[in-house]
Amino acid sequence: MINITLPDGSVRLYEHGTTPMQIALSISEGLARNVLAAKVNGVVVDANRTITTDSTVQLLTWNDAEGKATYWHSSAHLLAEALEALYPGVKFGIGPALENGGFYYDVDLDAAGVKFGNEEFEALENKMLELAKTKSEYIRKEVSKADAFAYFTEKGDEYKLDLLEGLNDGEITFYSQGNFTDLCRGPHIPNTGAIKAVKILSVAGAYWRGNQENKQLTRIYGITFPKAGELKDYLVLIEEAKKRDHRKLGKELELFTFSEKVGMGLPLWLPKGTLLRERLEQFMRKAQVKAGYLQVVTPHIGSKELYVTSGHYEKYGKDSFQPIKTPGENEEFLLKPMNCPHHCEIYKSKPRSYKELPLRLAEFGTVYRYEQSGELHGLTRVRGFTQDDAHIFCTTDQVKEEFMKVIDLVLYVFNALGFHDYTAQISLRDPENKTKYIGSDEDWAKAESAIIESAAEKGLRTVTELGEAAFYGPKLDFMVKDALGRKWQLGTIQVDYQLPNRFELEYIGSDNQKHRPVMIHRAPFGSLERFIAVLIEHCGGNFPLWLAPDQIAVLTISEKYNAYAEEVYRELESMDIRGICDTRDEKIGKKIRDAEVGKVPFMIIVGEEEMNGKKVAVRRHGVGDIGAMTLDQFAAHFRAEIADQLAGKHHVQEVATAEEEE
Ligand SMILES: [Zn+2]
Ligand SMILES: [Zn+2]
Repeated sequence: MINITLPDGSVRLYEHGTTPMQIALSISEGLARNVLAAKVNGVVVDANRTITTDSTVQLLTWNDAEGKATYWHSSAHLLAEALEALYPGVKFGIGPALENGGFYYDVDLDAAGVKFGNEEFEALENKMLELAKTKSEYIRKEVSKADAFAYFTEKGDEYKLDLLEGLNDGEITFYSQGNFTDLCRGPHIPNTGAIKAVKILSVAGAYWRGNQENKQLTRIYGITFPKAGELKDYLVLIEEAKKRDHRKLGKELELFTFSEKVGMGLPLWLPKGTLLRERLEQFMRKAQVKAGYLQVVTPHIGSKELYVTSGHYEKYGKDSFQPIKTPGENEEFLLKPMNCPHHCEIYKSKPRSYKELPLRLAEFGTVYRYEQSGELHGLTRVRGFTQDDAHIFCTTDQVKEEFMKVIDLVLYVFNALGFHDYTAQISLRDPENKTKYIGSDEDWAKAESAIIESAAEKGLRTVTELGEAAFYGPKLDFMVKDALGRKWQLGTIQVDYQLPNRFELEYIGSDNQKHRPVMIHRAPFGSLERFIAVLIEHCGGNFPLWLAPDQIAVLTISEKYNAYAEEVYRELESMDIRGICDTRDEKIGKKIRDAEVGKVPFMIIVGEEEMNGKKVAVRRHGVGDIGAMTLDQFAAHFRAEIADQLAGKHHVQEVATAEEEE
């Protein structure tokens, strides 16, 4: 008999050679029906693999990320089986699951004489569903390299032969389901019966092994689900995600642009986008002043020496922007990849006493990092971006309190912006491998418990990852779920023992002795660029009122009311309510439509009745008419909505309405 430890910590005895599926059956038949694979001693395996030693076993279902990945990868095999049935002679490259759901298979359809396009999707989906219904088992077989070569030579699949070259005898396995056999390490789900809904999503070209000198294969993307309803939901989300793509909305709302001439990955902020950025900056600056931060400004470049000292040059130098050389003198500068070294030098600008700690230096610092052109993506991957950065210099004993304060700030930001679903990931060092990390055991223990305790005291939902800490300190990251259920990493708080050493930072303690401070890096937004991209997609361009570039649009029914409209607009402006005054010679319907498309929160409509009554007719975007009122009444309504939003109450619907799409 062997001991099997389950995730709840319970230990059960099973026969030597039992399988995860048998373990599932011993618990309940319902569970067994849902088991897709299992994690045995940390390794994901087929549910029918035998277990011969004492092991920890986690059964994986659709609710586990690794269960889904196994399911989608197995679906790629089903896709291949269907392709082979439809197009004999097709050759196969690789078919992995994708991190964000679904899978693809790279295939060579030339030999089958097929040009695969959108018209072929449906037939392929139907074939996959037909084969899935046969509930064919995924059967694993160990093969010798010679036998594997013989099989794919006979089949004439040069891509599999190419893959085989890189494998060693003894580690080669085939998996078969139905009439299809693939070279694969596995694992897979028990049988094809779990695949109940199929959608072929798109098709693209992909060079074999990503090398442009190789043949271009056809990459077929698909997704599958255990229930038809889940596919339906997924397709709705995809459509919604397309509508909310920040690159699309950024253009429509005139927030930012890119110019090839300026350079790839270097965003240009347009006036409306700049307003949005400035509002975010003001918001953060105000919150930071309240929390005791001091604002600083440092240049966009720094001498190479600075980054040699900080260690950034050694770590990133070769793979990033190269040094800038000055004429004549022997000087080299780097574009600033991080603000921290500059802030360390500010710390060092005078002798520090413990009475000055914690010292919190904040900067909206623009940094530059080289990203390969293929990696660039809208505002989420750029080469120049602005961090809402700050560095807190404190004593080890102050780490916990500072952490609590930073968590408060991060939560205040999330709340005010309508992010209500988040978890905190605590990254600690690997206790088995302490030599990998710098800093004393005592300091690590203190900092780690400071993070764990402050997260607990703030009531955060947390996940703890051992071994995920940076070598220079533990950290806490916030993972935020957006309105479409996608996860984004925003907001990092990182303890650092390394930079204070490298820069030889000191303070004089109450004991009159020199001590080394701890440094905490933190950025609630992360970068303004990425944060705004996430925010745009989260709210679909319907920004919270306090943040909207144009908060109001004053619209005239005809030119007779232009003078009154100007008066209204100036009055609102004096109340710090901003936007546009639309006195164009256009029909009111057109003006309303344009303001709706621009997602302007409030439309202030003025005509005869309003002018005579010294009132305005108000229309809320996404809601409709809310009636006539005086400007003072409107201002009160406006301010109440902002106060609600900053307190975390968001009335504005988050999913776009059909009306807006027109
Ligand atoms: Zn496989
Ligand atoms: Zn930093």
